Amino acid sequence: MNVYYIDNNGQKQQIRFNYVPNTLGGYNYYAICPKCNSRRRILYLKNGCLICRDCAKLNYRSQQISKSGILFEKASKLLRDKLEYNGDFKPIHLLNNTIKLCKPKGMHIETYAEYLKEFDELSKQYQKQVMREIRAIINRSQNP
Ligand SMILES: [Zn+2]
Repeated sequence: MNVYYIDNNGQKQQIRFNYVPNTLGGYNYYAICPKCNSRRRILYLKNGCLICRDCAKLNYRSQQISKSGILFEKASKLLRDKLEYNGDFKPIHLLNNTIKLCKPKGMHIETYAEYLKEFDELSKQYQKQVMREIRAIINRSQNP
């Protein structure tokens, strides 16, 4: 059995239902999660689509990347891709400015200086954002 609904993007979505005989008589209906195909009694509306609780949570986490997390990823990408840094890189390195960089071979000094400036700017933004997020946590703790 199929049920159709229109999601947030105006797309027609299909939910399949299966039924399983109940030992006490009759049948129990189950929805099939369109994402993972598992059998569920309840589906959750996430971004306009009906999915199971597990898939909804997964989605939730991946979309809940913090602002500091985005800045960290940007800094990390700049380090790895442009500055050819292969060492350890953790939030603490960005917080304490303890990354030792060398100009990659063959890179123009001007280009290197630009990347360094960009990295420095990202570090500063990151440090500010982390402080903001920590403050927010503290404020929430005080005012539940
Ligand atoms: Zn699922």
